[in-house]
Amino acid sequence: MGSNLSFEDIQPHLVRMAILENESGQRIATGILLMTGEGDKRNWAAYAEKAALENIVQQKIEHPFSMAPVALIAKYGYEAKQVDRADGLLHVQIKKSAGVVQESKPTEKVQRLKGRRICLDPGHGGSNQNVSPLNPAYKEKDMTLKVALALKPMLEEEGATVYLSRDKDMELPPAERTKKINAYGAELVVSIHTNAGGGNGAEVIYSIYSDDKLAKILLEELCSKLGVVKRKVFTRTLPDNPKKDYYFMIRDINCQSVITEGAFHDNSTDLAILMKPDAHIKYAEALRNGLVKYFNS
Ligand SMILES: [Zn+2]
Repeated sequence: MGSNLSFEDIQPHLVRMAILENESGQRIATGILLMTGEGDKRNWAAYAEKAALENIVQQKIEHPFSMAPVALIAKYGYEAKQVDRADGLLHVQIKKSAGVVQESKPTEKVQRLKGRRICLDPGHGGSNQNVSPLNPAYKEKDMTLKVALALKPMLEEEGATVYLSRDKDMELPPAERTKKINAYGAELVVSIHTNAGGGNGAEVIYSIYSDDKLAKILLEELCSKLGVVKRKVFTRTLPDNPKKDYYFMIRDINCQSVITEGAFHDNSTDLAILMKPDAHIKYAEALRNGLVKYFNS
């Protein structure tokens, strides 16, 4: 498929309106098509902005192609192939081509957490399991580890340096845990948990010595990604000392630290959410999105 044609080269008879389809034959847009190539190689290319093509191929939105002479789809690694339908209209299937080297230099991905040092703490571990009373197959220690292991590369892709308090199932008592984490010298610690004790929805706990901005952002993201009820953000102090945080993962950490409780594993509605195969990915994405928002607002 030729990709060196300029818009001026287009002859009117080679331009047609067409129904653009995805690989499953679903209509995704109506487009302006341009015939390219010669003889057997003649084929249709569509005009569209790269972003529009990405959206169309990923079936995210319907995007009406415009006449704007932006780029041939071949340039961006897409193929357009005519398909036969009985309605007499021109139908063209748009799909990503295999192994196409992009002519345009791919734009560098913006790293939105560049230089950030973030420690993830998958709660519990070893004999400290927190098994769901509703289903012994659910163990909080496994879920928290899965979330952290999924989240680490997501944050690294955004440019962050990521530390883990544990990267496997292991015993990690409080004093040992906080000592290990403090030695990393991170600027922020996210302790990952699921909740128990009666209730449903997500909660985020923050320190009496920090504001609630991060906690609120993370709560929003957890609720929207996991589809759980928005419970609250809160601080809690020791009963005998209002100047000290109640939870050791906040009190004994020497930088900003939050505890995320994604959902209740002793609530049947929440547990069903937590037991979905991709729940740990959703949980991780929520935290990634929240951290990106926090550090960029
Ligand atoms: Zn926990």
